[in-house]
This record gives sequence, C-alpha cells and structure tokens, in this order.
Amino acid sequence: MKKCILCGSEKNKFVIKGYDRYMGIDKKEYNIQQCLECKLTFLEPMPDENELLSYYPDNYSVFTDEKKSHKSKKNYFRIFKNFIVEQLNLNHLKNTLGKFSDKKINYLDYGCGSGKNIFSLKEKFRNWKFFGYDKYNSKLSVKQNDKIRLLQEIGELDQLGDNYFHIINLSSVIEHVQDPSSLIFFLKKKLCQGGLIIIKTPNFNSISRKIFGKYWHNLDVPRHLHIFSDKNLTKMLDNNGLKKQKIFYSRNSGVEVKSLYSFFNIKKKPKSHNFIVNLFNPLTMILSLLNTSSTITIIAQKP
Ligand SMILES: [Zn+2]
Repeated sequence: MKKCILCGSEKNKFVIKGYDRYMGIDKKEYNIQQCLECKLTFLEPMPDENELLSYYPDNYSVFTDEKKSHKSKKNYFRIFKNFIVEQLNLNHLKNTLGKFSDKKINYLDYGCGSGKNIFSLKEKFRNWKFFGYDKYNSKLSVKQNDKIRLLQEIGELDQLGDNYFHIINLSSVIEHVQDPSSLIFFLKKKLCQGGLIIIKTPNFNSISRKIFGKYWHNLDVPRHLHIFSDKNLTKMLDNNGLKKQKIFYSRNSGVEVKSLYSFFNIKKKPKSHNFIVNLFNPLTMILSLLNTSSTITIIAQKP
C-alpha cells in the first residue's frame, strides 16, 4: 500500500477515476485516492517523470499567456468587482506584497511558466530582484536583465545559497510535483528569516469539485498529482516549520465555468468566455467567503 506523503498513513480510499480531459493527450485512466487520515488526495498509479513529460505540451495553459486577451475592452463587471474587493479590503495578496513595495528584496517565482507573474509585478515593484524557475518550460516571455533572472536549472537555485529569498511564490505548482512536502522543505531553506511563501493550489473541498466530480477542471488528471484542502495544506506547511499567516479562496469563476464546459462537452469560445466568467463571479465571490471556491491561496512565514 502506498504511504501518504503528508501523514504516512497507508489507509486510503478510492474517490473517482479520471483521464486527461483537458489536454486530451490520451485516455489512460488514473484513480484518485484519498488518505483517510489527512484527506490529501493523490493519483494512483503515480506517473513517473518520463510519463509526465508527454502530458506537458507547449500549449499547456500555464505556458501561454491567457490573461492577455482579457484586457482589451473596458470591463464593467471587473471594475465593479474590483470596487467591492477594494471597499471590503479583500485583496490580501496585494496588501501583503504592498508592505514590501519600497524594500530591496529577492523574489522567486518557482514554476514561473511564461513569466506572467513576474511580468505583472516588475513595474510596480522596481526595487525587487526577480528570479524565475520552471522545470517544464524555461522560456520566459519577459526580457532578462539585472533585475530579472531566469534560472535554467535547479542547481542554479542551489548556488544562490540558503536564506536568500524574501518572497517565494508557488502558483499552481505543488499539485504538479511528486513530493510537495520535500519541495517545501527545500524552499524553506532558501527563504530568509521572516520571509514569506505564497502558495496557490486547487481546493479539494470546493463546491464545484463536489458538483462536477470527474469534470472538475482543477482535477487536471494526470498533471495534478496531489490535491489539497485548506486543512492539509496548512498541515504540510506546519510540518515544515512554516507558520500560516493568511488563507483565502479564489473569487474568479474561471475554474467553475471551465468545469461547466467540460460537463456539457462545450468548447471554450474566447469571446463569450469572459462574459460567462463575469456572470458567475458574484456566485464565486459568495463561495470564496464560504471557503468553498476552487482555488486556495495561503501565505506562510518562516519564523
Ligand atoms: Zn495522509
């Protein structure tokens, strides 16, 4: 029996079967199992590194800059949403990063994809030094200079030494790795004292996962090897000596809407997609407040 990477328990149960619905590479089926102790879910069989490579074609979404098309028109839905978020002081990430705006800090985007996260931050935080690393794609769309550096190999990250980074961002990363706990242990060493780690990952306890089941977009079989809940994510950080500061839940209904497409076997149309997402956003906002939307973001600190 496979041991849970988080709590070591060998007791788990079958939850659901799935195959690559999203990229459609093949129809090989995997079981999604759940640890009976800590409720972490994992793929069975766990695909190895070689097997996984074929499931990451160049057009896998994290490598392409999906957000570009969104910005073209004046979007009243978004303006209204941003107004509410601003009024209720709900933009936790912005508030957290804002505290570092004038400081000289080293920021690592681990799993940077095409580099859109660095791209969105570099103008606002001009004193920061940005580092990007991605195992599957080492092509940043942002130009490298003395403020932005792309690490080609994990060895380069190691060479920078311990206690180096003030902020490490892991957006849509830990669900893709075979041993997320070891990764967090490694990155904690790279983090300076008082430094922050920001993790964004799917929420297994989300309402849409319960409604859509195998059609839930965030299941992303077989690329998502583990899917966390807020509880076991906090536990993993805790096990590695990182202290939870804040936890919050997605307000954008992108995952919910893509799950709907998958459920009804509808193809995503870029033009109507943004409209539908905006239409569902008020509902997702409520799910977010109930901690049951599709994605969790946690901010934790190295004491
Ligand atoms: Zn467990």
